[in-house]
Amino acid sequence: MHDTTPLSLLRIDRYLAEWIEPAVVRARHRLAVESGGVPDEPVPFAHARGAQYAPFAVGTPWGLPWGTVWFHVTGAVPADWPQDGTRVELAVDLGWMAQQPGFQAEGAAWSPDGVLVKGISPRNAWVPLPQEGGAAVDLYIEAAANPDVPQDAWTKPTPMGDRATAPKDPQYTLRAIDVVLIDETVAELVADARALRGLVDVLPAGSTRRAQVVAVLEELCDVVDPEDVAGTAARGREVVAAALAAPAPAGAHTVHAVGHAHIDSAWLWPVRETVRKVSRTVANVLALMDADPDVTFAMSSAQQYAWLEEHYPELFERLRARVAEGRIVPVGGMWVESDTNMVGSEALVRQFLEGKGYFERAFGVEPTSVWLPDSFGYTGAFPQVARLAGCPDFLTQKLSWNDTNRIPHHTFWWEGIDGTRVFTHFPPVDTYNSDLSARELVHAEVEFREKAHATHSLAPFGYGDGGGGPTREMVAQGHRSASLEGSPRVVIDSPDDFFAAAKAEYGELAPSWVGELYLEYHRGTYTSQSRTKRGNRRSEHLLREAELWAATAAVRAGADYPYEELQRLWRVVLLNQFHDILPGSSIAWVHREAERSYEEVAEALVGPAGLVPAALRALDVAPGAVANAAPFERDGVAPLAIAAPSPATPAELTRDGDDWVLTNAGVTVRLDARGLVVSAVVGRPDGSRREAIPAGHVGNLLQFHQDIPNTWEAWDIDRHYRKLVTDLDVADVLEPAAAPDGGPALRIVRTFSGSSVEQLLWLAGGDDPTLHVRTHVDWHERQKLLKLAFPVDVHSHEATSEIQFGHVTRPTHANTSWDAARFETVAHRWVHVGEPGFGVAVANDASYGHDITRAPDADGRSVSVVRVTLLRAPLFPDPVADQGEHTFHNAVTFGAGVADAIRSGYGLNLPLRTVAGGAGGADAGGTGEVAPLVTVSSPAVVVEAVKLAQDRSGDVVVRLYESHGARAAVRVGLGFAHTGVVLTDLLERPLGEAAEGEDGVELELRPFQVVTLRVRRS
Ligand SMILES: [Zn+2]
Repeated sequence: MHDTTPLSLLRIDRYLAEWIEPAVVRARHRLAVESGGVPDEPVPFAHARGAQYAPFAVGTPWGLPWGTVWFHVTGAVPADWPQDGTRVELAVDLGWMAQQPGFQAEGAAWSPDGVLVKGISPRNAWVPLPQEGGAAVDLYIEAAANPDVPQDAWTKPTPMGDRATAPKDPQYTLRAIDVVLIDETVAELVADARALRGLVDVLPAGSTRRAQVVAVLEELCDVVDPEDVAGTAARGREVVAAALAAPAPAGAHTVHAVGHAHIDSAWLWPVRETVRKVSRTVANVLALMDADPDVTFAMSSAQQYAWLEEHYPELFERLRARVAEGRIVPVGGMWVESDTNMVGSEALVRQFLEGKGYFERAFGVEPTSVWLPDSFGYTGAFPQVARLAGCPDFLTQKLSWNDTNRIPHHTFWWEGIDGTRVFTHFPPVDTYNSDLSARELVHAEVEFREKAHATHSLAPFGYGDGGGGPTREMVAQGHRSASLEGSPRVVIDSPDDFFAAAKAEYGELAPSWVGELYLEYHRGTYTSQSRTKRGNRRSEHLLREAELWAATAAVRAGADYPYEELQRLWRVVLLNQFHDILPGSSIAWVHREAERSYEEVAEALVGPAGLVPAALRALDVAPGAVANAAPFERDGVAPLAIAAPSPATPAELTRDGDDWVLTNAGVTVRLDARGLVVSAVVGRPDGSRREAIPAGHVGNLLQFHQDIPNTWEAWDIDRHYRKLVTDLDVADVLEPAAAPDGGPALRIVRTFSGSSVEQLLWLAGGDDPTLHVRTHVDWHERQKLLKLAFPVDVHSHEATSEIQFGHVTRPTHANTSWDAARFETVAHRWVHVGEPGFGVAVANDASYGHDITRAPDADGRSVSVVRVTLLRAPLFPDPVADQGEHTFHNAVTFGAGVADAIRSGYGLNLPLRTVAGGAGGADAGGTGEVAPLVTVSSPAVVVEAVKLAQDRSGDVVVRLYESHGARAAVRVGLGFAHTGVVLTDLLERPLGEAAEGEDGVELELRPFQVVTLRVRRS
C-alpha cells in the first residue's frame, strides 16, 4: 500500500509557508526613521529623547557589539486603516538572525512620554498602535546590539564576551520599521492550522485521528485560494473547526501551562543588560495580558523586580497592578535563582530572607514554591532550608540533563539530610522554555513517570535564558489545546494551582527521593573561574564576622547596627551566586565585574573604614587581643569572643638525609627531596603511633590533567580527563622558609608547561596534627586541570563532604552507574575519609570541586585518595578564564574525625583577627576582653549566625545547627540582659516560645536540625 500522507503534508506545509502565513500582514506602510547616537552604555529614556537625531535609512548597518542605537520613528496610520477584521500594529525587524530571541539584537519601544510600550525581538516584534486611521505614530526604539555569542558552538573561544575584545563593526542591518495591517481571520487560521499540523507529527502513525486531521488539512488547502487568502480564510476556518472541537478524553493528562521567562541574571551578557532584558520581557507580558485575559506569568528573583523598581518605575507600577490581580505571580522566594551546590549555609538562608522580604514589602505576597528550573544540582540541605523559609513546594527540571542515569520520578517527596521533605516536581516537558506545541505537550505526557496514578504536570512556556517570555502564538496554541483529541489538556494557570492540584491528587501516593539531587553534568562548575569562587567564599565569611561583631558592639557598647550597609553587601553577594556567575559559566565581562564587586565587599567590611574595624573599635578592647569569629575555641580564645591569645608552641623543621621532617607534639611529617609527603605519623590516644600515608603513595602531589570536555567548556569535566595526567614531582627549589605564624616552613617551587607553582608547607603549633599547604599558582594554560592529591591509608567505602548545615556521605567506589557518574563532587570547607577512630580531613579556603576515590597500595589493598580540584582553563564562554595568579590554602589534618574536620573548615575560613586596639577596655571595665553574646554547651551544635533582626527591632537573632548528624541536647547561654526568647523560622517569624532555664535555653536538636532563636533585649 502506498502511503500518501507525506505528500499531503508537503502540500500543507507549502500552503502555510508560502501563502497563508504571509497573508497575515495585509498591507505595510513605511515610517520615517531617524537615529540618535548614544555613545556607550545604556542611558535612561529621558536622556535618549534629548539626543540629536538624524535621518536613518532602512537597509543601513547599525550597532557595534554591546552598543545601543536609539531610533525615532514617526508617521501616521494610513487614513483608510483599519478595515473590517483587521488591526494595526508596528512591525520591526532590526536585522534578526535565525536563532532564538535573547541571544541577539533586542529592542524596546518607548512612547514620547516615557512609557515602555513593549519589547521587540524576533518572533515577537510587534508593537501596539492606535486603531484609528490617520492617528500619529511617534515612538522611540532602544535597539541593543547584543552580539551573537555563538551559543551553538560551546567549544569555540569567542572575543564577543567583552566590549574590550569584541570587533568594532556594526552587527546588524535595519530591515523594517513599518505600520502593518493584520488580517485577524488569517492570523487565527494560521494558529488553527499550526495546532492541527503539530498534532499530525505526534499522533500514532496508524491512528484514525491522524488520518482525519491530515484529511482536514488537505481540505483546508482546497478551500483557501492562494490568490485570495483573505477572502477565503473564513471558509478555511470552518473546514478545520470540527477537528479542533474534538475534545480530549475525560482522564487525559493535564498540563498546567504557566507563562514564564527564565531570564539568566547574567550569562552571555552582563548584569546591566539583564536589567534591560527584564524590562523588555515584562513590557511584553503586560502587552500580552492587555490582549488576553487568561495569560498568567510566573516570575522569580526578587532582584529582577528590584531592578525594575529602581530603573523602570512606570513599568513597575503596571507590573504591581498585575501582581495584585494574581496574574503575575512572584515565585521562588529567593533573591536570585542561585546555584545551590556552592552557596554557603547562611547565604542560602539569606537568598530567602532578602527575596521573601522584598516580595512582602513590594507586593504583600509570599511565594510558597522554590523555583529553580536551571541550577546545576541541588544540595541535600535544601528541603530543610526551603521548609523553614515557608516554601513547602519545589520545582526544577535540570535533572533531565543527566548524562548517565534518570531520576525515576517527576513528582515526589524530596527528603533532605535532616529528614525534612518538600513536594517536588520536575516538569516532564523537559524544558523551561516551552512553546506549547503539540510535540512538547505530548512529550510531557509520554515522559511523565507518575502517569499510572497522577495526571497533572507543569509546563513553563515562553522564551527564556535571554528573556522575551510568552508570545501570543504560544498562547494561541495553549488555548487550542485546552481540550483537543490527541493532545493533553492545557490549562493556563499559576504554579500554586498546579501544586495544589498535584498534591490533592498524588500527595499521599508520591514516592520519595532521599539526599542530594546530584546533576550528572556540569561538574566543572565547582571549579571554573576560581577568583569568583574565592570572592564568594571570602565574602560569606566576612559577612559573618561583620554581623557578629556589629551585633556584639550594639549589645555591649550601644553602637549603631549598620542595617542598610549589611543588606546592601549581602545583596551583592547574593546576586553573584546566580547560577551562571558563581558556577563560572559566564562571559569574561561578568566575571571581571564579579571579582571587582567582591573586592568592594571586602573593602566595605574589613577595609580601614569597614564595618568590622568599626565594630571592634566600638568595643574598645586592649591592644594585642584577637577576635575569634569561629564557633570553636582557638589559641585559648573562646568562640565568638575577643581576648588576648595564648599561642601554642611552634613546630620544628629538621633535615634527615635528603628528607625534611616537620614535627609538632601531634604529628611528624616527612617530605622527600621532591617535596612530596612520604610519611605522616600521628599519635593514637593509647600512645601508639599510626602512619597515614599508604605505602607506595605520596601526598602533596600536584596532578596536571588534559581537560577537554566534549561540549560545554566552562561547565563540564568529562570522565576521560582522568586518563591523561602528569604528576608534578620535580622540585626546582626546596628550602626552609618562614610560616605565616613565624614557625618553620618548607618552600617548594615547581615549573611545568607554561605555569609555575610555589608552595609553603608548615605544621600548626602545639599538638594540632594539621599540615598546612599554601599553593600559589601562576597559571597560563588552555584546557588543563590541576588537582592536589593526598592519598591516605584509610579503608572506607565512603567519604564525607561538608554542605550547608551539615554533610553528605558519598561512595568512593563506582559499583553502580550512579556512583560512577559522581566522579567529581562538591564540598564546602572540608572533606573527610575515615575508619572508626581514625581519619583524615582536608579543608580548603576557596575550593569546591573534589574527587575522593580508591587506589591500591603497595600490597594491592585499597586505600583512599583525596583530591582537591584547584584550577581549570576552559575556553568558552570566557577564553581567558582563570589565567594568572591564584593562592589556595589547604589544611590536612591527620587522625581527624568529622568533628575535627568541621573545626578545621571554620578555622581556615575565619582566621583569628588581630584587633587594632582601643584604650584597653577602660570604658568596658578594664578587662580588655569581650565575652561572647552566645555560648553553646554541645560541641556538636554550631553557631552559624549572630545578627540583629531584619525588622530593626534590635532583637538578637542566633542561628545554630546540629553538625554531627546525631541528636543533641544543648544549652544555649545568652550573655546579655533579655526579656524573652522565641524560636523562629528563617524569616525570623515566631514559631513558639523557647524554654529558658537558669543557664540558658534548653534545646533538643534532631540530626542536622537548624534552629533560629530570636532574643528580645531588655
Ligand atoms: Zn539559567
